[in-house]
Amino acid sequence: MRKTTLLSTALICLAMLSSCGDKPEVPAGDPNTKSSGSVFAMDTYMTVTAYGDDREAGVSAATEEMTRLEKLWSVTDEQSEIYAVNHAGGGSTAVSGETAELLEFALDMHEATGGALDISLYPVLRAWGFTTGEYRVPDEEEIASLLEKTGAEKISLGDNTVTLPEDMEIDLGAVAKGCAGDKAVAALKEQGVECAILDLGGNIQTLGETKPDGTKWKIGIRDPYGEGSAATLETGEGAVITSGGYERYFEQDGKVYKHILDPKTGRPAESGLASATAIGDEGRYCDALSTSLYVLGAEGAEELWRKRGDFDMVLICEDGSFVITEGIEQSFQLTVPAELKVLRK
Ligand code: AMP
Ligand code: MG
Repeated sequence: MRKTTLLSTALICLAMLSSCGDKPEVPAGDPNTKSSGSVFAMDTYMTVTAYGDDREAGVSAATEEMTRLEKLWSVTDEQSEIYAVNHAGGGSTAVSGETAELLEFALDMHEATGGALDISLYPVLRAWGFTTGEYRVPDEEEIASLLEKTGAEKISLGDNTVTLPEDMEIDLGAVAKGCAGDKAVAALKEQGVECAILDLGGNIQTLGETKPDGTKWKIGIRDPYGEGSAATLETGEGAVITSGGYERYFEQDGKVYKHILDPKTGRPAESGLASATAIGDEGRYCDALSTSLYVLGAEGAEELWRKRGDFDMVLICEDGSFVITEGIEQSFQLTVPAELKVLRK
């Protein structure tokens, strides 16, 4: 049911429209020369493409970084810090500074989104089978009792320590990829790379305001109702991160159940959105936002955008219409016929 591989391939090709054709070999030292590398981490294919003389060292450093972070934050790897936190039986767990920092960020975003982003939903996600692929529809009673074990506000952070009430479990699935992207970009920069594009299972992050040929990056926004893209966006350096029900779902008795849950109900969010894309400077922020916007729906997303004002967004509604924010109006282009509403401050 997962379409991540296809999605990644489609997006990376769109993101580098000019580089997917049958181009002749470019001579060494040419700034357009690129190298790519992929790893499977955080349940998705992550591809890094870097340009310039330091590109190979950069790609190695970035892919190693993503593998390292997967080991740190995996919910199933018994060696990971998150596994240790989840199995502490109510006690405190010492974690690294970078894990503590990401947890603190996730808790801040829980508050900022009125609870739409909640990293403590793991027991509920497991009951639905979203963690294993053994899908089922839990009954109301089961959901109600599982919801008692959730609530990110119950997580306490100390000086690089984390304490969860017994029976609570966390998973960083909604923010880890974006944060890994930020750290992979830092690893690329450390190797001297100035121009690169990362496709982390549909999340696009770029290094450099333009491609080496001086043109902007062109990112495809996936069509939730078909293959390929429904729109394109030209961007500089930053993150374009999408959350969509189509990424993981199952069907039972004619009803489709999608993998992003509304923390208030413990059921798949039914907010009227098919996908939500957040555009901004930082991967982890856009990752947290895209999941939250999807849960909040068009009205709640608009409210959050007006309150914070430090990101742009593309919402694809279930009726096929689009909502975008004014900051991307000039760089956004529909590739399917659709109604488009532009939000202005
Ligand atoms: P993303 O693809 O970034 O939107 O993250 C979605 C993933 O985060 C899901 O596959 C779940 O593992 C987890 N998740 C689902 N609903 C939520 C939520 N409301 N808050 C935080 N994480 C969630
Ligand atoms: Mg997310």
